Amino acid sequence: MEPERNWWVAVVGAGPAGLYAAEALAKRGARVDVFERLFAPQGLVRYGVAPDHQKIKKTGAVFERILAQPNVSLLANVELGRDVSIDELRDNYDQVVLTVGSSGARELGVEGERLRGSVSAPAFVGWYNGHPDFLELKPPLDHHAAVVVGMGNVAIDVARVLLQDRALLARTDISHDALRELERSAIREVTLLARRGPDQAAFDLKEVRELLALADVSVRATGFRGRVNTERGELIAALPQVDGLPGGRLIHFRFCTSPRQLLGEEGRLRQIQLEANDLVESAARIRAVGNGRTETLDAGLCVSAIGYRGEPIDGVPFERASGTVPHEKGAVLTHPSGERIPRLYVAGWIKRGATGLIGTNKACAHETVETMAGLLRHMGPARAPAQLRQTLEERGVRVIDAADWKLLDQWERAEGQRREAVRSKITSLEQAIALLDAKSNGALGAQPG
Ligand code: NAP
Repeated sequence: MEPERNWWVAVVGAGPAGLYAAEALAKRGARVDVFERLFAPQGLVRYGVAPDHQKIKKTGAVFERILAQPNVSLLANVELGRDVSIDELRDNYDQVVLTVGSSGARELGVEGERLRGSVSAPAFVGWYNGHPDFLELKPPLDHHAAVVVGMGNVAIDVARVLLQDRALLARTDISHDALRELERSAIREVTLLARRGPDQAAFDLKEVRELLALADVSVRATGFRGRVNTERGELIAALPQVDGLPGGRLIHFRFCTSPRQLLGEEGRLRQIQLEANDLVESAARIRAVGNGRTETLDAGLCVSAIGYRGEPIDGVPFERASGTVPHEKGAVLTHPSGERIPRLYVAGWIKRGATGLIGTNKACAHETVETMAGLLRHMGPARAPAQLRQTLEERGVRVIDAADWKLLDQWERAEGQRREAVRSKITSLEQAIALLDAKSNGALGAQPG
């Protein structure tokens, strides 16, 4: 459907949901400005997908093509709430789509969670992927034992990266700092803790098979009782239930177990108190209920991989329980089953919660764009954001556009090639700006590529 006049849309967030939305909007004739808080687009593809999953990261090429479309512009390094407000966007564009993802971490809610050595998976994953927010995380890797809480795909990613072949990691786009730390890591044993049984695990079979295939790592699985009823359960039940090789590298899947307290000395994690759970069926869900049997496990690192959470956005309704924005097919509502807020939409994790694969965002974004197109005819006169770029400039915001990003991307690939790696990531805004300034002074041309 061709709109009858210019249709200007602001997409906030240049991750998969935002870029799939931009593509679908541009196909329908909209002019799309994609705002991004960081200096680099691609969201979870760049900062979430594990570095040893380069095949998945290759979807990045699709997003680069979307950013190169004539009707799509990138305005990176522009932060909603700091550099521009929701009201300004709504005043300047016909429609605004928020695709800001779920950057927060769900908390375990146990004593000791703030000890050094206790980190969330969103932070840990950001750290190894060179996310500017987590450069200073410095997770301690100096103890032989680490615990990962949760049994989803992110937990599996974290466990795998902790024990992955360093030479293989060095050929990826992993952050240099993280690689250096992992090269020095003393971690030999990773315990994955699931509060429920193997049948209830959230991981995909493919991911676990990859973890089981790590070289020189033995595996054991304990803590579950009775029969298993799923393919996941069968895979786990077939694993050895005895100790690994003494002194060797080990992955231990522990089921029906929860962390009850993180214990430390001088602010540093040393041990985790665990409690065994019984599984109780209630309201069509199998729940884990602590049975009072406790034990203490030595560990220098605890990564809680129990899910990502959306963060509230100033001026936008928010459902705390789900960490999402209330909406109807992508149109933002004042509250669940409330009124529509004119011209405001959501897509991706902030719309549906932190679930699904990169590709899941395509259908999610398309649903939102369908709703937007359907409501377009009810809108007032055309808007055009001509003033906004100037306002950003007056505020001293250094907008990084698609041409700037292309230069940075080329630089990262060329630097990567020099090290026989996929990419050498720029990890700070300062570094990105210095490279762009060097380019405009003619100096970046001296770099390879
Ligand atoms: P997830 O799939 O929701 O898994 C969360 C895990 O944490 C579950 O095992 C859950 O157990 C557990 N958990 C939640 N609260 C807990 C608590 N208080 N105590 C102990 N355990 C708790 O989340 P995720 O692993 O963060 O993944 C997010 C999404 O990204 C998923 O859709 C995932 O498939 C996707 N992803 C995919 C890939 C890939 O394809 N390679 C990689 C990474 C992520 P219960 O079931 O008992 O609640």
